[in-house]
Amino acid sequence: MDYYKIIEKIYQDTQNCFGKGKVSSYIPPLAGIDGKKYGIAIRTVTGEEYKIGDADEPFSIQSISKVFALTYVFHQLGNKVWKRVGREPSSNQFNSIIELEKDNGIPRNPFINAGALVITDMLCELHKKPKVSLLNYVQKLAQNPNIYINEEVAKAEAEFGYRNAAVANFLKSSDNLTNPIKTVLDTYFHQCSIEMSCIDLCRACLFLANNGHSIDNEQVLGFRPNKKINSLMMVCGLYNEAGNFAWRVGLPGKSGIGGGIVAIVPGKLAITVWSPELNKNGNSYVGFKALELFTTLTKESIF
Ligand code: GLN
Repeated sequence: MDYYKIIEKIYQDTQNCFGKGKVSSYIPPLAGIDGKKYGIAIRTVTGEEYKIGDADEPFSIQSISKVFALTYVFHQLGNKVWKRVGREPSSNQFNSIIELEKDNGIPRNPFINAGALVITDMLCELHKKPKVSLLNYVQKLAQNPNIYINEEVAKAEAEFGYRNAAVANFLKSSDNLTNPIKTVLDTYFHQCSIEMSCIDLCRACLFLANNGHSIDNEQVLGFRPNKKINSLMMVCGLYNEAGNFAWRVGLPGKSGIGGGIVAIVPGKLAITVWSPELNKNGNSYVGFKALELFTTLTKESIF
């Protein structure tokens, strides 16, 4: 398959999709990002890489970090994770608190903010320096020691993180956070502020396509837990729009409000698209369209 030709065609055919979404206004450093940024990258399990546009430029990975945090704690804790977080899709926005109260403080899944905060709490239980441990973990997965946390973004997340603070307080009152709220929020905001390029993300997530094996052939996860992360991405990775993503794209995926979406073709490859203009659910407008075109052109979908 000539993946370069395919991403080149996608890149051209989606140029008329700009201007339909809106760059996130969640925090000033994200609101200032150029909405015309656009990159696509692919890494195959056999080691080939393809990229176009701004695929080498680091951007704020935001909620894509939830995949790394989950993989890290799931590997360490196994099925204990599911005593405190569910595995079902959510029907509200990613930062909603409504379902959490109905579900007695057990978040629906690890990819909405409430669930991610519980996972971050577990990370804080397992590591003395959770921010450093997670960053090192991601650097190793991507084989790039230059991956960094943008402190300006982390600071703004803390300054404007009213909703996350509300969710964390609710979790604490439901006995579903063991660490101080301040510690969990600080760690979570830093994890969201990791910056990576499309190619970094493809390399770091390749294990999901490769039976749990990273690009340096280390076993990150066994076959079964790896399958489980993929299935969670399928049903929850794009929050309350996961159904639409399955319908239009048909791959496990994870998005972030920085405009990135990573998608996995099991057994074959990881693909990442970055385009910061978001649709109303906080998912990249152009990224969504690009991935839809990808599975249409290649016929590489899990369905
Ligand atoms: N940092 C953002 C938040 O906590 C991440 C959300 C996202 O990328 N969807 O709300």
